[in-house]
Amino acid sequence: MKEILLLLKKFFGYTSFRPLQAEVIQRILRKEDSLVLMPTGGGKSICFQLPAIYLPGTALVVSPLIALMKDQVEGLIANGIPAATLNSMMPEEEQQQVKQLCIQGKIKLLYISPERIQTEADWFLPRLDISLIAIDEAHCVSHWGHDFRPEYTQLAILKERFPKIPIVALTATADKVTRLDIIQQLRLRDPETFISSFDRPNISLTVRRGLNKKEKITSIVHFIGKHKGQSGIIYCMRRNDTEDLAEELKTYNIKAIAYHAGLSPALREKAQDDFINDRVDVVCATVAFGMGIDKSNVRWVIHYNMPGSIENYYQEIGRAGRDGLRSDALLFYSLGDLIVLRRFAEESGQSEVNLEKLEQMKRYCESDICRRRILLSYFGEEMDHDCSNCDVCKNPPRRFDGSILVQKALSAIVRTGEHVGIQMLIDILRASAKAELVAKGYDKLKTYGAGRDLSSREWKEYIYQMLQLGYMEIDYLADRALKMTPLGRKVLYGEQKAQLVAFQKPDELARPVRDKEKTTRFKARPIRPIQSESIDETLLDSLRQLRKQIAEREHTPAYIIFSDDALADMVEKKPVTLEAFSDIRGVGQIKLNHYGKVFVALIRFVLKLPKTF
Ligand code: ADP
Ligand code: ZN
Repeated sequence: MKEILLLLKKFFGYTSFRPLQAEVIQRILRKEDSLVLMPTGGGKSICFQLPAIYLPGTALVVSPLIALMKDQVEGLIANGIPAATLNSMMPEEEQQQVKQLCIQGKIKLLYISPERIQTEADWFLPRLDISLIAIDEAHCVSHWGHDFRPEYTQLAILKERFPKIPIVALTATADKVTRLDIIQQLRLRDPETFISSFDRPNISLTVRRGLNKKEKITSIVHFIGKHKGQSGIIYCMRRNDTEDLAEELKTYNIKAIAYHAGLSPALREKAQDDFINDRVDVVCATVAFGMGIDKSNVRWVIHYNMPGSIENYYQEIGRAGRDGLRSDALLFYSLGDLIVLRRFAEESGQSEVNLEKLEQMKRYCESDICRRRILLSYFGEEMDHDCSNCDVCKNPPRRFDGSILVQKALSAIVRTGEHVGIQMLIDILRASAKAELVAKGYDKLKTYGAGRDLSSREWKEYIYQMLQLGYMEIDYLADRALKMTPLGRKVLYGEQKAQLVAFQKPDELARPVRDKEKTTRFKARPIRPIQSESIDETLLDSLRQLRKQIAEREHTPAYIIFSDDALADMVEKKPVTLEAFSDIRGVGQIKLNHYGKVFVALIRFVLKLPKTF
């Protein structure tokens, strides 16, 4: 294993393994099969890339997404590892070249699409010296997984034709049935299943509820303001929202672009490309976005609408922080979304399952215990402590006796004959003079204006809580009118007290300033360190500029040059010699040779040291 560790440093610039990587690698070297479950960003690739480098011959990597293959191969080549792709989108001539190189043993990793396995099984593949076979996104072989691909079912042929070659199947999402199915479909022999923790402690979790559209946008603009120059994704339920939101954000001088399945392929590709290459910071997208994206420095994910299940939510927030650095997930939860999602679930043909999944998602949003605990327990992992990186942990709920508030609300509901929805209830309590209210005579009710002392936002929050606590319920069949429950009756008649959580106004709802004049466009060359308060900030900014320039020159995404994590390590260690630079996380031999000098020179410049070293 010592040799393998040296290779880890030499090619990837890392000095230690992440959990389970070493175990999986050892198994491959013993020519045994395995199934690996690791969350997104857990470090699955190294599990097969390192043994591929170490072993003689070529490793086959089956991967369903051409975009992902391209990205991985680019990353490998940048680290000095001969790798190539073979898929039907490539020109015939290029395919032939790649095949020749493989047969000559000049390629260490060949990324191949699943449908090619069948066609190449008779002539090309038998001519290779195959070191190992990796099946990436292995959940695609199973009908039970959430992304079944028919091409994947043909992969059984690999074990039949190459019984002695170890197979490693890797995925980030597979429940128990799916795992068994993967093992059977791929005909794995006595496989060991490795399951690493699904915890992603670097992603902070926040849920905001009850915000209207305007408030959401204010909140988003504020949030992005705190993440200047960083990449993020905003997931929306509707296609229209992605476009409207991107336009709106642009008026705040935020570089945003829309992405959804209804756009032309060219526009979609451009959006994806602009995002990967940091030409835009924000993509406002439907869930169609993200599958083929391996960008390691996505710093945040916002859910403009609530997702339909915890699986979806977890997969989507998992696109943030793959480099292990601090990242943020923010979700907006509203009853309006819940109603729409409930209808989708009912019409889905699998309504029972989908309604239950939605219910779990709702429970997550409404919870006042550590959110990470709920997530992990959903995936069958117990956590024995609170995470201190979610909104509940950071801002523990303060409770007060809210019986009078509940009584006011319920009494108003009862007096209308249980005919009003949330907004009308608030209007009655706050003595609004809306025509509809007056027409129905609600201004004559005894409770009219009984809740004038609270803002509309506060009432909304407390009514959510009353629903959640079961004092009232929404009658979806009666135009979403609010009804009192037997439990609510007890509070109304003073037989029971109601504890509510005190409302805290999010500080970011102050209106952000729209500023069309101010342009923050960065002019390339020469690097001008922005003088910040701290030298670390100045240095990080300069390093980012340099990385971006190199990326542009080499026509490659910035994170292929160095990850955000590598830049953070440079800021921390401030290497001013090549030797010190070689100790940076993510700096292998090739990157040291290619970029060491310019980066060290820049660090010396920012630190005001003499040029020579
Ligand atoms: P996955 O395929 O599981 O989503 P990746 O293989 O893309 O994850 O790895 C995620 C990130 O973690 C990459 O930036 C990778 O370079 C980094 N990484 C992987 N293994 C290690 C390690 N042992 N030490 C430090 N960083 C690592
Ligand atoms: Zn927590």
